[in-house]
Amino acid sequence: MTAKVRFAPSPTGRLHVGNIRTGLINWLFASGQGGVFVLRIDDTDRERSTKDYEDGIEADLTWLGMTWGERYNQSARFAIYDAAVERLKAAGRLYPCYETPEELDLRRKVQLSRGLPPIYDRAGLKLTDEDRARLEAEGRKPHWRFRLEGKRVTWEDLARGHSEVDTASMSDPVLIREDGGYLYTLPSVVDDIEIGITHVIRGEDHVTNTGAQIEIFEALGAVPPAFAHTTLLVGADGLGLSKRIGSLSMLELREQGYEPLAVVSHLARIGTSDPLEPAASIEALAGDFAFGKMAHRAARWDPEDLAKVNAAILHAMPYVEAKQRLAAIDADLGEAFWLAIRQNLTMFRDVVGWAAVVSGAVTPALSDEDRPVVEAALDLLPATVDETTWSAWTGAVKERTGAKGRGLFMPLRRALTGMDHGPDMAAILPLIGRDKAARRLAGETA
Ligand code: GLU
Repeated sequence: MTAKVRFAPSPTGRLHVGNIRTGLINWLFASGQGGVFVLRIDDTDRERSTKDYEDGIEADLTWLGMTWGERYNQSARFAIYDAAVERLKAAGRLYPCYETPEELDLRRKVQLSRGLPPIYDRAGLKLTDEDRARLEAEGRKPHWRFRLEGKRVTWEDLARGHSEVDTASMSDPVLIREDGGYLYTLPSVVDDIEIGITHVIRGEDHVTNTGAQIEIFEALGAVPPAFAHTTLLVGADGLGLSKRIGSLSMLELREQGYEPLAVVSHLARIGTSDPLEPAASIEALAGDFAFGKMAHRAARWDPEDLAKVNAAILHAMPYVEAKQRLAAIDADLGEAFWLAIRQNLTMFRDVVGWAAVVSGAVTPALSDEDRPVVEAALDLLPATVDETTWSAWTGAVKERTGAKGRGLFMPLRRALTGMDHGPDMAAILPLIGRDKAARRLAGETA
């Protein structure tokens, strides 16, 4: 049986790190076994869903390399849901209720004050035809609830192991609102059946839903798919994600300049037994994926770890891969330049600063103690410079001034680059070139 999974975001906002992680786990699971990743746009809420958000979801998935094999919009499938509704009504599993939200709220308060669980009392089930006619004559419109069997629903969860939900402790879920609009619960099950979803992979916040949804699968005569409910993301401190990070969107990460491979590598590996390092590709991550590795660790979203993964990708990036992007930001100064500076990058755009050090104007930042070394260095600078110059030249400066270690190298670095950290000077010196180097050593802005 070919695995078929779905990622089902609602286009009511941009994707954030939490829902991308769910999407990614689906993608990795399907790709790892040659299965199908379905993108399902859950846009039954016509008021809050927008085409812009839908386009944003596609753009984010594409940016991350998460291709989809099939794609659906729930808003185009109402006829299929209507047919399922008829079947549930005919089977006596869907019943109309007429309470207003205020009435329901009041009932819950009364139940709680009596120490009872605040579960819907199924008053709707007891209504006679005359009751209903009277309520509708008052102008009330029904919402429709699914009659749960009230039993222990169990499943072997791929992520959390044996799981169970007691549907006797739940209110019958509302499937259709007063205005005829569908809530998420039923369309999701109907689509999972119609589209042939074999595995429903989603966050732990859906565990209770799963109890009710398994009953709906059964009521529609379908065998429920396998389920996996993954732990939710936590922040770097191990506590819940802060609002800020919890709602951090892919768009923001993209604008901050992260490499898509860093984002997927980080999201795929947090909370697993795999090391937090970049993968060669998203396909390679799929090859490594297993629910068993995710077991029971918290998945920590840590921007510092993400930055490390991002840096590691840049440190190993070959010039051919960087070339076009360098050109696009006017920083393509050749392969030797890229190889000299890539080790100093955390984000790709940091390259601009190093390009300026090589081809822009630098004002040497020198202290008084730096001067004797810098003056000797200017005096000893050979007529031409290449990659071999640095060691012989600094050896000569050392001999003349007696300076060594930091006392020798820092003044030269500060004079030549205007900074006190940076790439290997032996590689940078020939890129700066003899003339600029001489002028900077002389204290000029060059
Ligand atoms: N649209 C639902 C959500 O974003 C989908 C949940 C599911 O995967 O079933 O919560």
